[in-house]
Amino acid sequence: MTRHVVVIGGGFGGLFAVRGLRGAPVEVTLIDRAAHHLFQPLLYQVATGVLSEGQIAVPLRDLMRRHSNVESLLADVTSIDMEARTVHGERPGGGSVDVRYDDLVLAAGVRQSYFGHDEFAVDAPGMKTLADALLIRGKLFGAFEMAQTAGDPIERQRWLTFALVGAGPTGVELAGQIRELATHTLRHQFKRIDPGEARVLLFDGGDRPLASFGPRLSTKASEALTMLGVDLHMRSVVTGVDKTGLLVRDDSGATTRYEAGTVLWTAGVKAAPVADVLATASGAEQDRVGRIKVGPDLTVPGHPEVSVVGDVMSLNGLPGVAEVAMQSGYYAGRRIRAASTGKAWNKPFTYHDLGSAAYIARGNAVISVGRVHLAGKLGWAGWLGIHLMFLTNFRNRLGALVSWAITFSRESRRERAFSLQAVVPGQDLYDDPATPDPEPGAARRAV
Ligand SMILES: Cc1cc2nc3c(=O)[nH]c(=O)nc-3n(C[C@H](O)[C@H](O)[C@H](O)COP(=O)(O)OP(=O)(O)OC[C@H]3O[C@@H](n4cnc5c(N)ncnc54)[C@H](O)[C@@H]3O)c2cc1C
Repeated sequence: MTRHVVVIGGGFGGLFAVRGLRGAPVEVTLIDRAAHHLFQPLLYQVATGVLSEGQIAVPLRDLMRRHSNVESLLADVTSIDMEARTVHGERPGGGSVDVRYDDLVLAAGVRQSYFGHDEFAVDAPGMKTLADALLIRGKLFGAFEMAQTAGDPIERQRWLTFALVGAGPTGVELAGQIRELATHTLRHQFKRIDPGEARVLLFDGGDRPLASFGPRLSTKASEALTMLGVDLHMRSVVTGVDKTGLLVRDDSGATTRYEAGTVLWTAGVKAAPVADVLATASGAEQDRVGRIKVGPDLTVPGHPEVSVVGDVMSLNGLPGVAEVAMQSGYYAGRRIRAASTGKAWNKPFTYHDLGSAAYIARGNAVISVGRVHLAGKLGWAGWLGIHLMFLTNFRNRLGALVSWAITFSRESRRERAFSLQAVVPGQDLYDDPATPDPEPGAARRAV
């Protein structure tokens, strides 16, 4: 019988595992709870109107069209039976699907962590999925619209205040983009407000933004953000979030309230829930944030048939970045491929660090590759090259290049459509107040 490989997750880890299996005498089932592969590093550009969702999300079915041995299923894996070697997935809207495996690759990634305060998520969305980016887009562009019609100056100022929690690459990129939006794209588009007055507050419990890039680039990033008009609040811990602002404790222990119409959470991650499912079923150890600890060949100790790759894998402190996911996924695919053809395999996984990059503003990015540290225009050129190289699918690369050329040269952003529900939860553009809901509590239907 043909060996069957099940891959859970169609992110970088899962996709590269499938690529590693190309041409192998195996059947592959790729299960994801979304029908697309998402290029997460550019989510913030969808959120700020530079790119469309289609430019960073490619249908998995389309990506798999040349892999004749791969079937792709839309389902949320909720349990794993290690004895029967079967994964159980829930279909959207009800029903289930069971898939048997000989080899299992878990590549389910991570989700946002609120450090024990999951209640913050309602008022401070994170940015991990396409839905998150579209929600944030609505919140950002909606805030300027709400400020424009606010009669009360205090309310107007609140709508024009954007608070970001977490000064890692995502927080820094979003902060820079919001200030650029306010001071360039939207500059002449409102009559009753000056979008340039928008305040962007960036909070982080650490000493400096982009700490993982080292002191030199981090200082450059601080300077660039300050020049853009971002208010940096380092050594500041957010202790409360609600609909109109947040509470922050600084390093002196004093707590201050900041009024903000938009609060976004870009700090902290924890493993996808299916990692707990695997740990319970297999006895695998998990690290502090729930990632599965694996051996040097990326398998779960005692279970050579189960590999864990990408963000959800815990190995030697490797960071949760795209390169780790790609390389570990590809390694797992090749290892299973070797086993399927009866070849010996005793190479442990080794990671080749290709560096990291973060975009701050037009013409300004930081890149760290080994001993090479670039900032400013050179960093930006490098950032462009890296993203063009890694963006999935040629058409998207071309599309992104055109969008960037227009955005950077003409300060115009095309992707600004949003749903009112992002600004006022529960309210839809086509709601007719005269028409009651068909059933109490039922969502109103847009026609
Ligand atoms: C906003 C943002 C910016 C980033 N910027 C950078 C950057 O500049 N550079 C960089 O190197 N990295 C960056 N990263 C990190 C990088 O995107 C991740 O390291 C990479 O995507 C990890 O790949 P993965 O395959 O492990 O997980 P993911 O890409 O998260 O994929 C996991 C997949 O598993 C699926 N899944 C999860 N649970 C289930 C389940 N129960 N059943 C079925 N499917 C499931 C999900 O739907 C998803 O498709 C960024 C991440 C984010 C969120």
